[in-house]
Amino acid sequence: MSSALVVGSGPNGLAAAVHLARNGVEVRVLEAADTIGGGTRSGELTVPGLIHDHCSAFHPMGIGSPYLATLGLEKYGLTWRWAEIDCAHPLDSGDAGALHRSIEDTAAGLGVDGQRWRRMFGDLADGFDALAEDLMRPVLAFPRHPVRLAAFGPRALLPATVTARWWRTEKARALFGGLAAHAYCRLDRPATSAVGLMITAAGHRYGWPVAEGGSRSITDALAAMLVEHGGTIETGVRVRTSADIPPADVVLLDVAPAGAVRILRDRLPARVARAYARYRPAPGAYKVDFAIDGHVPWTNPDCRRAGTVHLGGDFAEIAASERLVGAGVMPRRPFVLIGQQYLADPTRSRGDVHPLYAYAHVPHGYPGDATEAVIAQIERFAPGFRDRIIATDVAGPARLAEDNPNQAGGDIIGGANSGPQVVFRPRTARDPYDTGVEGTFLCSASTPPGAGAHGMSGYNAARSALRHLRRADRERR
Ligand SMILES: Cc1cc2nc3c(=O)[nH]c(=O)nc-3n(C[C@H](O)[C@H](O)[C@H](O)COP(=O)(O)OP(=O)(O)OC[C@H]3O[C@@H](n4cnc5c(N)ncnc54)[C@H](O)[C@@H]3O)c2cc1C
Repeated sequence: MSSALVVGSGPNGLAAAVHLARNGVEVRVLEAADTIGGGTRSGELTVPGLIHDHCSAFHPMGIGSPYLATLGLEKYGLTWRWAEIDCAHPLDSGDAGALHRSIEDTAAGLGVDGQRWRRMFGDLADGFDALAEDLMRPVLAFPRHPVRLAAFGPRALLPATVTARWWRTEKARALFGGLAAHAYCRLDRPATSAVGLMITAAGHRYGWPVAEGGSRSITDALAAMLVEHGGTIETGVRVRTSADIPPADVVLLDVAPAGAVRILRDRLPARVARAYARYRPAPGAYKVDFAIDGHVPWTNPDCRRAGTVHLGGDFAEIAASERLVGAGVMPRRPFVLIGQQYLADPTRSRGDVHPLYAYAHVPHGYPGDATEAVIAQIERFAPGFRDRIIATDVAGPARLAEDNPNQAGGDIIGGANSGPQVVFRPRTARDPYDTGVEGTFLCSASTPPGAGAHGMSGYNAARSALRHLRRADRERR
């Protein structure tokens, strides 16, 4: 029986482990933290009994993951829950754009831009599964649905600032701007439309669900499945160098390229070491979790029913704040993402006390205190919010990195989403998962298809590892 050692139990590490175990490989996972899950951890942060998502919150790409969807994780305790509205984007006028799972409901709220929204997203939502199958594989793989891909490509490659001109109303432009801001990148850069288009299309296909009980339910389900297939997981074990890696036929690293350099050191071929050293990080996140008494007093009623609320004002303001963040300057009014997961999943609240999730886009490694800037953005669209705060937990870039070395500088997306790195990550290679060290693969979100709790980087890397095992087996015979 072949053996695999997986370093890190994030969604990608565990997806890789499950795929290997289901293919007859004996799998052992080593996790540095005391709990599994990486960017899907959740638990108490403010007051006892309230469940907060430490990192990932909404999972259009999780439920729409071509791999996770095949596993039947519902049998292992994963239940998806949806808020009435997936995402709302309030403006200073009191109006708001709202993303509904139904494209018709979304269009109906956008007035003269309704028809344009349908034209932009109708075919992408209809063909989402086929598109995801191609886009969530290594970019140099031969597409299975070339026609769909060819229709998506020209739209995806545009800067979001160009795509935004498609809409006539500020409401639609701002709604799209907030969605495109998930690229975590200056919106005037090429290909910044891609992320916004994909998460919107996924939203129209599947909605933006949360996992009941917290995002940890996603990786708890993967872990349960792994154990059922004979795999083991050890927590509290940090792998610092190759010497800490027990012997195995293949090794999968759920770590950032910088982590791979630290672990593999001079075993890495020089060209790979150079490429990993050149790999650019993304800007940072500044996370603030609140316990609040009652609900957020949003001025706009749609915001009161939305799982996600994007706070950044109009499109021009979002583009300007993302530009500043990219240039290393903290904006006075940063783009802030609010999560009201408890609307979909009331098990996270205690009576009338609810967990509210927020993070701001800040410069990479931002050392200052952005708590007040986050609260001010909420107050701007929900006057009186401040009086509802019972407790606060703050995690700036330094703490995010302490919690998980993959989040150095507060980078929550596993590396910048700009330039060739959008698709060629962590380096340009036919097999981007291969580290060049015999039988050792990178499987984190720094490999294609990139960030998100969808497990696709792990699954793709595990497929590379299985090919390696088969090759080695043939050579032995
Ligand atoms: C604030 C925030 C909000 C987010 N929001 C969303 C969202 O709403 N939806 C979404 O889909 N995604 C979201 N993400 C992104 C998502 O969480 C990540 O893309 C995803 O978790 C990446 O998975 P991974 O397995 O590659 O790595 P990680 O989740 O980072 O897991 C890596 C694991 O490896 C461990 N590890 C690292 N180095 C070592 C070592 N040397 N030895 C042993 N163990 C090690 C770490 O402790 C960690 O547990 C968010 C992330 C953050 C932080």
